[in-house]
Amino acid sequence: MQSLLNEILDEVRPLIGQGKVANYIPALGGVKPNQLGIAVYSNDGELYHAGDAGTLFSIQSISKVFSLVQAIGHTGEDIWQRLGHEPSGQPFNSLVQLEFERGRPRNPFINAGALVICDINQSRFAAPSLSMRDFVRRLCSNPKIVSDAMVAESEYQHRSRNAAAAYLMKSFDNFHGDVEAVLRSYFHHCALSMSCIDLAKAFSFLAHEGFCVHSGEQILTPRQTTQLNSIMATSGLYDEAGNFAYRVGLPGKSGVGGGIVAVVPGQFSVCVWSPELNAAGNSLVGMAALEKLSARINWSVF
Ligand code: GLU
Repeated sequence: MQSLLNEILDEVRPLIGQGKVANYIPALGGVKPNQLGIAVYSNDGELYHAGDAGTLFSIQSISKVFSLVQAIGHTGEDIWQRLGHEPSGQPFNSLVQLEFERGRPRNPFINAGALVICDINQSRFAAPSLSMRDFVRRLCSNPKIVSDAMVAESEYQHRSRNAAAAYLMKSFDNFHGDVEAVLRSYFHHCALSMSCIDLAKAFSFLAHEGFCVHSGEQILTPRQTTQLNSIMATSGLYDEAGNFAYRVGLPGKSGVGGGIVAVVPGQFSVCVWSPELNAAGNSLVGMAALEKLSARINWSVF
């Protein structure tokens, strides 16, 4: 595995330069584009990594999985009264579908859906940002994980589109909390700084029938775990989920910070990071690396 990871990074490194670092959040625009890391964590607790796997980056939409897990944990199936689990086929921050569908987001991984999930969590936790941070720390047994206050503030200053989605949902009575407070929590989650190694470990419970070896907690039931993995497989990569299924064939979740996590059920969790994005907002080099890895080991769940 170790030599395979080194080989794959060497093969995909020439693609650096073809994508674009996200700059619609100004604090992300300054990230050095030529970084590339990968980490693979096995269900037996073996860790393999290559490149910049220990470098911290902004997890962005990958945090939507953690929020969803927290919401399923305290509210269970009832969350689906507020949103769906269908792919959207639309960009992550689109408002068009939300208006047509009367404020009910298609799934928890587009921004509108993640905001509804944060709204649900906001009503359950006294300090939602801290509870999320502590949850993530437990999942990967790294007590040093923090949210980058500058990134969170930069997102808040440029919140128009997310605020529009939240207020639109409020107009349809599908948003109950204070919009600005929920946005603050949402950006705080997105601004968590983690490395490929942290994320590969944090996602290992999804490869392990919901059991987290680091904290000893059963985070989700085995059934909830397969359901969550299925939502990642159908909606985890914005409007490119089909392409990811075709090329990689694993449940996955990406973020505009350039990270992509993927789960090989029963075996591994993986995180790859390279900040340059393709037109759909997914890490261009990261996708290529995961495609090669999945093909070489025959990992596709399909
Ligand atoms: N915080 C970002 C936003 O709301 C997350 C986008 C993403 O990673 O997809 O625009």
